[in-house]
Amino acid sequence: MDFWNSWVGFFLLFSFWVGVFCDQDGFLSLSCGGRTSFNDSSNILWTPDTEYISTGTTAISYNENNSSSNVSLRFFPDSQGRRCYKLPLNNATSLVLVRAKFVYNNYDGLEHPPTFSVSLDTAIAATVNLTKDDPWIEEFLWTVNKDTLPFCLLATPNGGFPVISSLEIRPLPRGAYKNGMEDFPNKLLRKSYRIDCGYANNESIRYPLDAYDRIWEADRSFTPFHVATGFKIQLTFNQSGLMEKPPATVLQTGRVLARRNLLTYNLPLDALGDYYIILYFAGILPVFPSFDVFINGEIIKSNYKINSSEVSAIYVTQKGIRSLNITLKSISFYPQINAFEVYQMVDIPPEVSSTTVSALQVIQQSAGLDLGWQDDPCSPSTWDHVGCEGSLVTSLDLSGVNFRSITPTFGDLLDLKKLDLHNTSLAGEIQNLGSLQHLEKLNLSFNQLKSFGVELDNLVSLQILDLQNNSLQGLVPESLGELENLHYLNLENNKLSGPLPESLNTPTIEIRTSGNLCLSFSAAVCDDGSFTPSIETPQVTIIPRRKHKTHKHLAIILSLVGGATLVLFLIFLSIILHMTKRRYEVSHTSREEIDIRNWGAAKVFSYKEIKAATGNFKEVIGRGSFGSVYHGKLPDGKSVAVKVRLDKTQLGADSFINEVHLLSKIRHQNLVTLEGFCHESKHQILVYEFLAGGSLADRLYGTNSQKRSLSWVRRLKIAVDAAKGLDYLHNGSEPRIIHRDVKCSNILLDEEMNGKVCDFGLSKQVTKAGATHVTTVVKGTAGYLDPEYYSTQQLTEKSDVYSFGVVLLELICGREPLNHSGSPDSFNLVLWAKPYLQAEAFEIVDDGIKGNFDVESMRKTAYIAVKSVESDASLRPTIAEVLAELQEAYDIQLRYLEPL
Ligand code: ATP
Repeated sequence: MDFWNSWVGFFLLFSFWVGVFCDQDGFLSLSCGGRTSFNDSSNILWTPDTEYISTGTTAISYNENNSSSNVSLRFFPDSQGRRCYKLPLNNATSLVLVRAKFVYNNYDGLEHPPTFSVSLDTAIAATVNLTKDDPWIEEFLWTVNKDTLPFCLLATPNGGFPVISSLEIRPLPRGAYKNGMEDFPNKLLRKSYRIDCGYANNESIRYPLDAYDRIWEADRSFTPFHVATGFKIQLTFNQSGLMEKPPATVLQTGRVLARRNLLTYNLPLDALGDYYIILYFAGILPVFPSFDVFINGEIIKSNYKINSSEVSAIYVTQKGIRSLNITLKSISFYPQINAFEVYQMVDIPPEVSSTTVSALQVIQQSAGLDLGWQDDPCSPSTWDHVGCEGSLVTSLDLSGVNFRSITPTFGDLLDLKKLDLHNTSLAGEIQNLGSLQHLEKLNLSFNQLKSFGVELDNLVSLQILDLQNNSLQGLVPESLGELENLHYLNLENNKLSGPLPESLNTPTIEIRTSGNLCLSFSAAVCDDGSFTPSIETPQVTIIPRRKHKTHKHLAIILSLVGGATLVLFLIFLSIILHMTKRRYEVSHTSREEIDIRNWGAAKVFSYKEIKAATGNFKEVIGRGSFGSVYHGKLPDGKSVAVKVRLDKTQLGADSFINEVHLLSKIRHQNLVTLEGFCHESKHQILVYEFLAGGSLADRLYGTNSQKRSLSWVRRLKIAVDAAKGLDYLHNGSEPRIIHRDVKCSNILLDEEMNGKVCDFGLSKQVTKAGATHVTTVVKGTAGYLDPEYYSTQQLTEKSDVYSFGVVLLELICGREPLNHSGSPDSFNLVLWAKPYLQAEAFEIVDDGIKGNFDVESMRKTAYIAVKSVESDASLRPTIAEVLAELQEAYDIQLRYLEPL
């Protein structure tokens, strides 16, 4: 034993001195979150990481001081997107080892270790789970093919904030690990094991003993029953390819078969996958052992011989394995092994074409945006607003951005299947998209486009074309009907006229045309001006209830009766006759006829009565897209708000009556009550209860004193009230109703600051021929619009939840949903606020309530607001869930004592 110890001592001392003079050329050692440079005990220079963090990231450094150590780490509180280091690589190097150490160490006192992913370039290389192990070390071998290597931390949902404490780059000699790296050019190697077989003591070995600073672990726990041995022998490498040369200290110890005739290692692996294994053998004994080598039961080498003083290696790849068994079976003398390495082979996804990447960058710059787009759009994670299939960018959603025109660069995104440019201030002609042969969905709605241009004809794959709410004029081009795959075309609210191309008149295309000057398949009808197809359709969005049993019974009875077809035909005929009659009747509605209907508590006013109540429309209290709102007083002294529809915003008589009838029945303490209406000759007037506190928008964005009145507890109370109103519309009223235009200006306040929702159940449709006003609020208001509603055209209650989520964000941040005056990245409230609130970074809270809120109450509200504006509607809560959460936040805040 003395003999052994003295040899080992000698080796270590010798190797140490070799190491001190070893070249550290190309070593990069970053102390993450560190503030100063320092040399460690192995004389490696560590520097702070600040200059290597890519732009656009935020990071906070943290130092834990205790009596013995000063730990630094960096965490990334913005849990959205990629947070990357750009690691410089020397061109002269062909292969590098990248090592990262992740420490949580409860630095935040929350005892919530994070889980996140790590990527190198385009590859997701590992998942770090600090709950399992803290610290956690990852090592990778990377073939150098560029000047800098993006090394990113990718937050996972509910995984907490990614954290890192050190990052190292160690160049490896040219030709090292040759076989594996050359055979698999699109792979990186992730270290599973690097084992020093046999041991002097139980410590790991690294620089300076290993000139390349690999860490070799002792194998004590893997094969305890075999003899560990070591001899200082001058070793030579018999294979020219063995450029990765393990250090002598590692090779001069080994495991030798004792007693049994099989020498085995059993090694668990992290995941099912392909693995690259290197076994090292060194002739440190004065014998020539020969043996068979098995991996997972499969013979890899038979009768493998080790020559005295020589080092050799076996390189093996194993596909689709979950655990590893290395077995050496004796033929003569004692099988032995000196070291081995096991690497998981990780795919490196191909990069997106450079044309696409530069087109996207140009689009980003030309719009003056900073969307945080860097490196590859698709891998390791997709950029915000971008969707990918493999390495192809197939969708782009830049709605809400101010583009003004479709620039030629859009035409370079050749793989696009989906392009959403709604509400992007586009004007002029639809252009530059003709090259997008794969485009299936194109949304250019809510812009000021004037002409169809000629390029739509080339979009042979187009299925969905949404051009609603533009300023398109003249005739609809014939060629649209030639797009074979088109099955949805929305032309609503443009200035189109004339007959629609007959080629579009097919049951396979759903075509929407309302809100145009005169647009139908029948030119004759348009010419005499007697028919405008859009105006008679009521636009109240009613959620169908499940069929009543009576309907079911009726259906059964009908099905029993013979000649059912005949019956249906007769019913259909009578409905048509009835409707024709009704249209005539309603357009000549007299007061008496209206009175016959069941109006609940709503009153029917004459125009004379309205004039008297408003003092001849003296006091304007507001203006909306329908027209002006006046203050009025009824004969019984009750204050009312009188909404007079402008001529051009008036509905067809049928629609108006139907809507008013519906509204008159909806009563709830958090919904503004319809007191009555007037429908006389040219006038369509709605009379509502008057709310003296104005709208929530007036308060939030009005004078300073108005804003001061909105403490956090008040804001929460108003939010709870409004959520109750919406909950009633969605779940309590009969029929159930989707509001479609939830926003701060549609939440009104009474004298005691109770909140009430208004403007529900109303059509918002430009209806009259000749109307020039194309409103942007046809089915909502910019900044509050549910993005999914646009992509699917399916309106659900979750669209209201989205808009209400925006209201909550406004209450928290005190800013409007779209802010054109701020920096580009703060332009859209949802995009700007979401990452901060997810990270509970409450510095963005409205100055007016800073320091005066209970953090838990804010946390709850922020959480439900962020959930409500999820772009995937299915992930949003229901309004009832939002209400429950807000109620809790409100209760918590009620208990909060404001600082004196
Ligand atoms: P848009 O029609 O574009 O959605 P809006 O909701 O602000 O905008 P209106 O509902 O017509 O438009 O209301 C205009 C303004 O009139 C409101 O912002 C509010 O200040 C005032 N107002 C409306 N209804 C009432 C009411 N019942 N009591 C008191 N003020 C009201």
